[in-house]
Amino acid sequence: MIEMNVLERMKTGLSVWAFSLAVSLVWLGGCQPQEEVQSPDSTDVIAFESLGFESDSFELSSTKESQLKVFETLFIGKDGYRIPGDPGPARLRAFFSDLRESYFRKAEGLDYSIVGKQYHTFTHAMDVMITTHALLRSGGAVYFSKSEQAVLVLAALGHDSMHTGVSNAFLANTKHPYFLEAGPDSLQEKRSVKHVLGLLDKHEMLVVEEGMGEALQDEIIGARNLIEQSILWTDISRHKEQMEKVTALVPQLNDSLTKARGSERQDATKGATAADLLLQMKAHSFLSEESRVLLGSFLLHVADISNPGRDWATCERWAGLVMNEFFSQGDLEKKLGLPVSMNCDRSKVLVPFAQIGFGKFVIRDLYELLSQTLDSGGNYLLSNFENNQRKWQEIEEEVKASGKPYSIRFEPPSKEGGWFGGSQDSE
Ligand SMILES: [Zn+2]
Repeated sequence: MIEMNVLERMKTGLSVWAFSLAVSLVWLGGCQPQEEVQSPDSTDVIAFESLGFESDSFELSSTKESQLKVFETLFIGKDGYRIPGDPGPARLRAFFSDLRESYFRKAEGLDYSIVGKQYHTFTHAMDVMITTHALLRSGGAVYFSKSEQAVLVLAALGHDSMHTGVSNAFLANTKHPYFLEAGPDSLQEKRSVKHVLGLLDKHEMLVVEEGMGEALQDEIIGARNLIEQSILWTDISRHKEQMEKVTALVPQLNDSLTKARGSERQDATKGATAADLLLQMKAHSFLSEESRVLLGSFLLHVADISNPGRDWATCERWAGLVMNEFFSQGDLEKKLGLPVSMNCDRSKVLVPFAQIGFGKFVIRDLYELLSQTLDSGGNYLLSNFENNQRKWQEIEEEVKASGKPYSIRFEPPSKEGGWFGGSQDSE
């Protein structure tokens, strides 16, 4: 029998609960010796424009070779993004290899026989990178300079670098050394920023050097700021603040696009589309750097929580992974005699209900706001999301009618995709 009292209690605290679910969504990580990633076979190349919302990130991230192939398509291939200063292929590959390794680290003091880091893996980082690229290619790129586009996609790959597999709140509550080092606010996001910027220094990428032209220096300073801000904004506890800021920015964004379109496309949609990109609309030249950084951060945040806007199979697979990761934190909290964080108790949380609540209180408004700025990208996510909400509702109704609990779909990424393996799956 389904526990109706639990269901009722959950309904009464839904908004707090949904927010807490949201808060638990963005986290960081801990370490294994790195292996050199080899260049893929050049005869088997992925096309830049083929990477999009419907790409299978699990498949593309299943081996080191295929991961590198995606990275090369995005940053080294002839159609790819160009990082300011134009670092060469060897430098980019070495940076990629180091950044990848940071997703395989284990944080000191955490019991990874219990913590199942299944969601915040390198596969998630790859997925967010591909989705950020998809958002730009669906029209978002018109709001950014070429180098900003490149840097945003790079930031996406690094946004959960060093993630531990537990929440910021857990690290704070247990006075983990990372909390003592980074403080209570956005602590894992701050560690990600520090790590990514440190790796850029190590590989002499995006570093201002003597003798550089002033324009390039400014570009590099702007790029580092965009990386820092966009990663810090992935802290879901800042979601509401970001929504307010971007809502206030929408008229400016629409205005910039209207100006860029001139008289040609006055009948077009309010938000940007791939056609605007094709016609090389340069809305970015009508926006301040501050506005572009805010919008870029918004796109990265959308990409980070884009799973509910994918096809149902992908949506359900990621939902299973994130809930399992939360539950493993709950298992650790029980073992340590700590109160179990909201959404982390596998014996009480109903997965379909959690997903419906998260969709209702966080996702719908987010995608609707996106669609005002990005017509096709926003509406793509929104329409899948509405379909997925209906699926979760159907499942919830079945659970209620049958009394049989929903069984979590457990299909972790591959080991090379970042899954540590060995931890429990659903109960
Ligand atoms: Zn993330």
